[in-house]
Amino acid sequence: VKKIAVLTSGGDSPGMNAALRAVVRTANYYNIECYGVREGYNGLIHDDFLKMGPRSVKNIINQGGTILKSARSMEFKTKEGRQKAYDNCVKYGIEALVCIGGDGTFTGAKIFNEEFGIKVIGVPGTIDNDIFGTDNTIGYDTALNTAMDAIDKIRDTATSHNRVFFVEVMGRDAGFIALNSGLATGALDILIPEKKDSMDELFANFRNAEKTGKASSIVVVAEGEKLANIYELAEQTKKEFPDYDIRVAILGHIQRGGSPSCADRVLASRLGYGAVVGLMEGQNNVMAGMRSNDIVYTEIEEAIKKHNEINKDLLLISEILAI
Ligand code: ATP
Repeated sequence: VKKIAVLTSGGDSPGMNAALRAVVRTANYYNIECYGVREGYNGLIHDDFLKMGPRSVKNIINQGGTILKSARSMEFKTKEGRQKAYDNCVKYGIEALVCIGGDGTFTGAKIFNEEFGIKVIGVPGTIDNDIFGTDNTIGYDTALNTAMDAIDKIRDTATSHNRVFFVEVMGRDAGFIALNSGLATGALDILIPEKKDSMDELFANFRNAEKTGKASSIVVVAEGEKLANIYELAEQTKKEFPDYDIRVAILGHIQRGGSPSCADRVLASRLGYGAVVGLMEGQNNVMAGMRSNDIVYTEIEEAIKKHNEINKDLLLISEILAI
């Protein structure tokens, strides 16, 4: 490959900049011309390309968000939109695209590759950790630490007032952030979509906590929890335990921002490098991921369709440690 383009798409995540930096610098190191595309697939369609050299990505390894900006492009979902994107790739002589994003981004990349033959390689950038083919996604570790810090702060006020807090964390349909931040903050209960939860079980945990002298509790709820939404959970708990002082906190987008953790910067650097090297070695229509500390390439099709399993041990441990 002689010319590539790189874009960030879908929900942003801390570490996308570090991945971009790694792609741009690895490409330049190997004398591959590299273009950045602004605002995800929209930039491909609207000819928003900028040539990037090593200095274009200075001082960004520590920055959250993405300097290329991200977008959800409705136009790229249409054949006409993708045709325009392809015409621009031809105009610049782009042979391959590095797409940093989540499963939607990969779906778009795969369709584009199969339609027009431009090579694509994915780099998993999402806080949700819901991509198969990598142990962790870029941004997940930072989001986890942000959630943990926030829940720690909530705990301070919960203990001072003998309150029960229901705290919602992000993760879409996946419970990774909830499970790990819940375990790390000593939550009384953790409700995630991957397991079948019940109000009876939750109430039993509250009763048990009372018996053992717990005066305040935190319940971490994944945003994709199926049992009920967080306000309903709080309401039903109040009905069962009228004496409880119950509050709801939704952490929201703070989990998507901030300077990436060391783990995310290292992961992003390795996967950005891995994407460019993969293209040089002839990889196509795959995602670069990290498994057991090795860079591995997984068919995009597989990365989208399969799901990482929740670690059952963590569930058990969190229950045992919450008594
Ligand atoms: P996150 O999971 O963090 O939100 P994501 O990459 O899954 O990230 P999406 O908004 O689902 O975010 O997808 C990003 C973009 O990928 C879409 O805005 C669209 O441009 C493109 N895309 C998604 N699905 C398709 C599709 N079926 N065909 C073409 N393009 C698609």
